Amino acid sequence: MALAFDEFGRPFIILKEQEQKTRLRGLDAQKTNIAAGKAVARILRTSLGPKGMDKMLQSPDGEVTITNDGATILEQMDVDNQIAKLMVELSRSQDYEIGDGTTGVVVMAGALLEQAEKLLDRGIHPIRIAEGYELASRIAFEHLERIAQKFEFGLSNTESLVQTCMTTLSSKIVNRCKRDLAEIAVKAVLAVADLERRDVNLDLIKVEGKVGGKLEDTELIYGITLDKDMSHPQMPKRIEDAKIAILTCPFEPPKPKTKHKVDIDTVEKFQTLRVQEQKYFDDMVQKCKDVGATLVICQWGFDDEANHLLMHRNLPAVRWVGGVELELIAIATGGRIVPRFQELTPEKLGKAGLVREKSFGTTKDRMLYIEHCANSRAVTVFIRGGNKMMIEETKRSIHDALCVARNLIRNNSIVYGGGSAEISCSIAVEAAADRYPGVEQYAIRGFADALDAIPMALAENSGLQPIETLSAVKSQQIKENNPFCGIDCNDVGTNDMCEQNVFEALIGKQQQILLATQVVKMILKIDDVISPSDF
Ligand code: ADP
Ligand code: MG
Repeated sequence: MALAFDEFGRPFIILKEQEQKTRLRGLDAQKTNIAAGKAVARILRTSLGPKGMDKMLQSPDGEVTITNDGATILEQMDVDNQIAKLMVELSRSQDYEIGDGTTGVVVMAGALLEQAEKLLDRGIHPIRIAEGYELASRIAFEHLERIAQKFEFGLSNTESLVQTCMTTLSSKIVNRCKRDLAEIAVKAVLAVADLERRDVNLDLIKVEGKVGGKLEDTELIYGITLDKDMSHPQMPKRIEDAKIAILTCPFEPPKPKTKHKVDIDTVEKFQTLRVQEQKYFDDMVQKCKDVGATLVICQWGFDDEANHLLMHRNLPAVRWVGGVELELIAIATGGRIVPRFQELTPEKLGKAGLVREKSFGTTKDRMLYIEHCANSRAVTVFIRGGNKMMIEETKRSIHDALCVARNLIRNNSIVYGGGSAEISCSIAVEAAADRYPGVEQYAIRGFADALDAIPMALAENSGLQPIETLSAVKSQQIKENNPFCGIDCNDVGTNDMCEQNVFEALIGKQQQILLATQVVKMILKIDDVISPSDF
């Protein structure tokens, strides 16, 4: 597109290669965009809730992902429609901000689009719909605050945190062990949390997985695990009160680089060179010992001769440790990363109560555990499971649970799940619609209907009659004035979500409503789509 001016100075737009562009305008543009957004939401709808289905996605290079997480499904799907990409972004922003509720937010946006389509058919201008949605979202936002409850927790009283994490995990493949995993997630978050500032640095929680064992073997380690072993099999497997030198500089005799030329023409010269090299390395080892190190963790490798020497001098070492791990080790052990060997001093050493090597299965698979660290605020969730897909999905589920626990530490308000909060909001929004004299009230009612989509999807996915179930629950909420009635997905026998302990974080729900409304408003405001046409 280009902007040009005619001889009178009036601007006009030139569309380059006009015939090669497709262009949709006005209502057509909105209708097409809505259809694309709805299509994406329809895919995710069946994955919502504790009885939601999983999706299996294959990447171009044949790697298979099985997941229930909305953000992951959309991320892996190859969408090339621009509006569909907006929905992908929507899910991703929920993931960034909150971590959970990534499926729900897309389903909600899809329902809003569906309602918008009906309103457009009735001749209401898109801007009026957008305004109505904005009003309604604010009503719902405030209503959520009204029905939310605060709960108290402390280091000894974590039950409500665990319950909320369990709600998150109940929709995942791992729901078999949701209690154990929820406890692990809560313990991990509390270990790194700063309760005074109400802040949690999730970077301090490392989530690691290793194929093998069973899900029940998943454990929380107050320290760091390293997928490495001691560089020499005869080095000690257990070091107590370890003083760790963390090196990012080479730890080996100097190698003649190709740039240099060393002339060796006699045996004696070779011998001297060898002795020199050995002495150089010997000095390095001595220096480590002098500063008091009992373990060396090194970013680089060292050759077999150096390895042998280290074993001989009784200085255990680990080689080829990645940069991220080194940083975590430094944080956990209170040590400093040493980039120049000369700078190694006793106060730069990290301290750990116990470093041990553990072997797994029948293979020669070994890992290092660095525990009882000086700064115990770095922890590792170590996941075991039958296969790689399972481990990856468990990692994602744990991530959701960790985020939920973090959100609750930031803001300890909860609303009840199972669609109960949405139904309650829907009733409130519907009631508020009457107060608006303009056409917005149609959009506000549409918003109320869209809120019902979440409990409907939950009911449908659990094999219940969606409309009957929803209307029964809704009338019960109105009759008993009880905002905790939701969909009894697991057939427990009661639909009081308070009794079922189905909690969700307030800020997660609020964020869902805000984000979904924003995206839908954005889609409604597009009235001209110019794109290169297909060949
Ligand atoms: P999301 O990716 O949006 O978090 P989920 O698949 O995790 O999607 O489903 C979350 C929805 O399932 C929420 O609306 C939550 O209230 C509901 N839910 C979770 N556990 C239960 C349960 N035990 N009974 C009823 N509803 C539940
Ligand atoms: Mg969830």
